[in-house]
Amino acid sequence: MMDGNRAANDRILFRGGSLITGDGRTMLEPASIRVRAGVIVELSPGMADAAESETVISTEGLMMLPGFINGHAHATIAGPSMPSGSPPLSPAQVSWQRNRHLLSGTTSLINVCGLAMADERDGELGAHPMDIHMTSAHTPHSILAADEIDGRGLTPRHRHSSIDDLVLSGCRVLGEAGGGQTLGGGAQDYRFIPDAIEEYTGLRISVQMARRLKEAVLGRRLDGRATASERTVKELLVEAAIADKISTLELRGLLERHVLAPVEHALVGLKEVADAAVRHNLPAIFHHAPPTAETLLLLQQQYPALRMIAAHANHPSFLTDEAVDYAARLKDLGAKVDISTLDVVETRFRNGPESFDALVEAGLVDTISTDFAGGDWDTIPSALHRMTRVNRKSLTEAVALATGNVARVFPEIFGDRGLLALGKRADLVMTEAHNISRVRHVFIAGQARVWNGALLSA
Ligand SMILES: [Zn+2]
Repeated sequence: MMDGNRAANDRILFRGGSLITGDGRTMLEPASIRVRAGVIVELSPGMADAAESETVISTEGLMMLPGFINGHAHATIAGPSMPSGSPPLSPAQVSWQRNRHLLSGTTSLINVCGLAMADERDGELGAHPMDIHMTSAHTPHSILAADEIDGRGLTPRHRHSSIDDLVLSGCRVLGEAGGGQTLGGGAQDYRFIPDAIEEYTGLRISVQMARRLKEAVLGRRLDGRATASERTVKELLVEAAIADKISTLELRGLLERHVLAPVEHALVGLKEVADAAVRHNLPAIFHHAPPTAETLLLLQQQYPALRMIAAHANHPSFLTDEAVDYAARLKDLGAKVDISTLDVVETRFRNGPESFDALVEAGLVDTISTDFAGGDWDTIPSALHRMTRVNRKSLTEAVALATGNVARVFPEIFGDRGLLALGKRADLVMTEAHNISRVRHVFIAGQARVWNGALLSA
């Protein structure tokens, strides 16, 4: 049993089982890790001898990995949520989201909602064992875009703050520049469009139907090109059983108001965030989807020093070939390519794994995160497991995408972790050997936080 005393001992030896360091290549079996005061002081192949007064934790039969670093998540903070500046989620929801990340082996996380203040991370919940970092996208046009679509979570304090202010208060990552709400992405489909149609017609449409109507009327790039015929739109309204409540013309007006209004501001916001990122030499996370992809290419070209992370390169609004093509071009220019699990691994409520698979198999992926996907996000280890079973990737390469690689993209905040190596913070995940999505124990800075699949209270 992991009792309080053993968990609190700062002299620990983890011994036995397999170990993956997170560098993309190295696996040891069996292996031992010695930890002192939350830091790895020895890492060796084989079964090390226990030192005096050391807690020995047997990891035989398990896989030892660095704690996962999730570089793109939402809904884990107490402040305004999403790039739409929406009201905060309830403490119960935030608490559930945080625990679900931790239980799946995530020990560090970047919440990319972007408009909250530095002191709004925890609210009444208090600090969480997971190390949660916040980002800033406080620019005039990002805030205008938020107000067009929602903005009800923003106060004068948020509105009058700049990225410079947030950097002064410790923020070391910028973004998410743009977002699913302000750029016609996923949150439009699962939330804003169904809400608006329900208000208008009294009937609620599915998320799938919301996306089909949006793309039929506005085009996938939201530029009015490649739109469907009047007749196709009418047929969609019949299929959605709302044809007698709203005309195609009324639908167009509604979608323009709810989807297009913030887009222009949000695109200017991308440039403002890029400017600030270069000025501060900080990494910046950009919403990457058909309405923004060309702008991202231009910005990375225009600012070669920009440390751009192209987020969710497998965004469901891309065609698969298009997702691969953009990722390759952005990577050529020096951007980092992140893919998100969304709901594509197990849940499959709205989205499928086609672009995820294609990007992984093309070797274009630098990092993997969850994003939010309306709360349906699948876990990082379930995605890594899929890569080894479906995409023919080695486990050592897959694990690096959620550990060592993420630390390299965000050295300002994760330079001390992401690898099982001497001197690194002892963030460890122990999983079942043949399916790393079954997380058994999680240690953060040498302290047990999940034991036998259950959360330990602090
Ligand atoms: Zn996004």
